[in-house]
Amino acid sequence: MSSSSSRAEQILHSVFGYPAFRGEQQAIVEHVAGGGDALVLMPTGGGKSLCYQIPALLRDGCAVVVSPLIALMQDQVDALRQLGVEAAFLNSSLDALEQREVEKRFARGELKLLYVAPERLLTERCLDLIERTPVALFAIDEAHCVSQWGHDFRREYRELTLLHERFPQIPRIALTATADAPTRREIVERLALESAHQFVASFDRPNIRYRVVEKDDARRQLKDFLAAHRGESGIVYCLSRRKVEDTAEWLAGEGFDALPYHAGMEAVLRARNQQRFLREDGLVMVATIAFGMGIDKPDVRFVAHLDLPKSMEGYYQETGRAGRDGLPSDAWLCYGLGDVVTLAQFIAQSEAGEERKRVERRKLDELLGYAETTACRRQRLLAYFGETLAEPCGNCDNCLDPPETWDATVTAQKALSCVYRTGQRYGVAHLTAVLRGETDERIQSLGHHQLSTFGIGADLDKQQWRGVFRQLVATGLLTPDEEGYGTLRLTQASRAVLRGEQAVHLRRQADRAGRRAKRQTA
Ligand code: ADP
Ligand code: ZN
Repeated sequence: MSSSSSRAEQILHSVFGYPAFRGEQQAIVEHVAGGGDALVLMPTGGGKSLCYQIPALLRDGCAVVVSPLIALMQDQVDALRQLGVEAAFLNSSLDALEQREVEKRFARGELKLLYVAPERLLTERCLDLIERTPVALFAIDEAHCVSQWGHDFRREYRELTLLHERFPQIPRIALTATADAPTRREIVERLALESAHQFVASFDRPNIRYRVVEKDDARRQLKDFLAAHRGESGIVYCLSRRKVEDTAEWLAGEGFDALPYHAGMEAVLRARNQQRFLREDGLVMVATIAFGMGIDKPDVRFVAHLDLPKSMEGYYQETGRAGRDGLPSDAWLCYGLGDVVTLAQFIAQSEAGEERKRVERRKLDELLGYAETTACRRQRLLAYFGETLAEPCGNCDNCLDPPETWDATVTAQKALSCVYRTGQRYGVAHLTAVLRGETDERIQSLGHHQLSTFGIGADLDKQQWRGVFRQLVATGLLTPDEEGYGTLRLTQASRAVLRGEQAVHLRRQADRAGRRAKRQTA
């Protein structure tokens, strides 16, 4: 063991030029080099590649690396060749002649690492080749692609169990940065990794400060947030291409070096914006989630979300692009009731099957739980990845400025009965008007001024009611309609509140803003 570990270290120094292993890299390398199967869960940037590259060099034969990312294969192979390691790839970007050449080199035992797209690997031609050639190990990168629960399911990944059935003596190492419990279970099951050793790195990014703010005037809020980051590089995520364009243009008008990025842009311009962001200092990239895959810029100081991400994984990946250099960075999410309605509508109206929709809806609910939590955000985020942080982090908004909660049971009952009395057919604006006892023409013509809930909520202003409704939706006491008109309906859970069997505690938001304002003037 110790001689193999020192050989691993030698390779780390002499081939890769690094002074020391990071985290669990050494344990993983030794385990796989010794012939064991492994499942490696490590955040992006954690150093997963070395976990199979060094065992590849320590063992006889060539390592076969399955990767779905054709663009990144080229980069990996180039980097290895620069280090003097014989590496190549097989994917659809090669013509027949080039492909033949790579196969020959593999068969002659000239390669130490061969990157293969899954659909290519599963061809009989490729499997035959593997049968006749000594293989050091199989590395299955982006292993979450086997999971339907994951965000980029690939059908071919499901068939990779074939590797185990056909070549049981060859060790396998599966790697992913998506480590929530359902995905992890599916990876183990689908890839038959029950007896593999699981290496789970911490997903904590202690230098990132998490903050969530209630959306009221998003542009002004963004401007205030960016004011504290003048001259720094950062990313502003928006849901739609249109909003990316508008926001970038508006920010440029406000004197920020802002560039747009989304998949609908002309390829040349998009590539140029990306290059500028990587090379220059202090650019704000306004982007859809199309931006970020494979982006490794160490000094991104902030990631702002003007719209809700679709899931906790998405949020973690996107915010994780901040602070790769370990220096203090900000993750800032601005969200409001409208976002919840929009996303719920997206899900309901998508082409996906019922099962998929249920999964998406659960993911959105997890994220809403995060956005509304009054406890430590980092604890909540890490808990999602199955990790327990013993103490509150001290570096998120809720730790730094603990939110006050109030007993909102009666207020919630008023809101819910107003939804019920008006027939579960109206949105927040109308419900608030009825609760506040406003007599406009619409209310008159609908006869809503005669309802028992008319005027029973005059103690709260419009803004406060908006906050109450948002929290009721986020906590599942109300649900937006699937047609996307923003109308709210009762849920199973609302009944217990209406019957007085369950208390409701909400965060006090208006006061919070007020407190902050006071502190700033003091
Ligand atoms: P992942 O695949 O987990 O996102 P990579 O394998 O691409 O991460 O590694 C991320 C970065 O960290 C790369 O630039 C890599 O060279 C570097 N790196 C990995 N391991 C070490 C180490 N032990 N010492 C120094 N740098 C490392
Ligand atoms: Zn915290």
